[in-house]
Amino acid sequence: MTSVAAPKMVHAKAPGKINVFLKVGALLDDGYHDVAIAYQAVSLYEEVRAYPADDFSVEVAGTVELSRVPTDGSNIAIKAARLLARRTGFRGGAHLEIGKHVPVTGGMGGGSADAAATLLACDALWGTELPREEMLSLAAQLGADVPFALTGGTAIGTGRGDQLSPALAQGQFQWVLVVADFGLSTPDVYRELDRHRERHAQDIFPADPQPSVDANVLQALRAGDPHMLAETLYNDLQAPALHLEPSLAGVLELGEANGALAGVVSGSGPTVAFLAPDLDGALELQIALSAARLNVVRATGPVHGARLVTQ
Ligand code: ATP
Repeated sequence: MTSVAAPKMVHAKAPGKINVFLKVGALLDDGYHDVAIAYQAVSLYEEVRAYPADDFSVEVAGTVELSRVPTDGSNIAIKAARLLARRTGFRGGAHLEIGKHVPVTGGMGGGSADAAATLLACDALWGTELPREEMLSLAAQLGADVPFALTGGTAIGTGRGDQLSPALAQGQFQWVLVVADFGLSTPDVYRELDRHRERHAQDIFPADPQPSVDANVLQALRAGDPHMLAETLYNDLQAPALHLEPSLAGVLELGEANGALAGVVSGSGPTVAFLAPDLDGALELQIALSAARLNVVRATGPVHGARLVTQ
């Protein structure tokens, strides 16, 4: 009988994301909100290498500020590996090496990408062959953005953001991202939004408990037209993020004064995403923002979701 040797290491990568549209519903009784999100996966990838081991451990390196990334069992990659082992009855562990390139606590789903890449890598390392549907359900248990990191491309997320349906999109959008040297906690930004809505309850329309993505966003993505998409970029979390970090308003103004079609805070921030008309426009904007001593990276989207990397 021939037996296939277990791999010595499995390498997977998964993309970060930009929310090109994010509407937050009314606060629900359980303390959460439903959301309507148009996600686009972008070409900043997290890398995970999984090695056979008896227990679970993680090491983190990369090109972004790493001080806020835990290296104990609270790292979402370890949670993902443990969850997969529990679900499949696998008895061993894994040593995980994460290469981080998505800004940490930047509103771009870096942790979620680590979780998605870990699920794929460990599934291949252990030979557990979890069906895709079940992997998506494990992903949703790990966090609302994890299923999208698995699927990538362009998608609409409703419910907590984890009920995904693919959206038609063509072309490549050129993004210029300003990465802050501080993070914003997602729960803090949601709390600030709730406080704001409470303070101004008389002046603003009550939030829709079940928000949806505007048809114009879907049309712009289908057309692959950056000018149309720029008109529709929207984020309910932008105002509370700016309230918590007023310096972001100056960043938005600077980008728009230097050729960006539009700028938007990505997710709960503080990363600011600028949409450029084309590659030349993106390069010019990158130079202008770098000259203002901002930390700038360029990315294109949409790109594929989590994948194994063959060596
Ligand atoms: P999102 O856009 O999904 O709200 P984010 O991009 O703003 O998330 P992450 O970088 O994913 O934020 O990290 C959020 C928090 O999760 C951090 O405070 C960090 O301490 C914790 N964390 C746990 N595991 C990881 C990981 N592998 N990488 C980064 N942060 C992690």
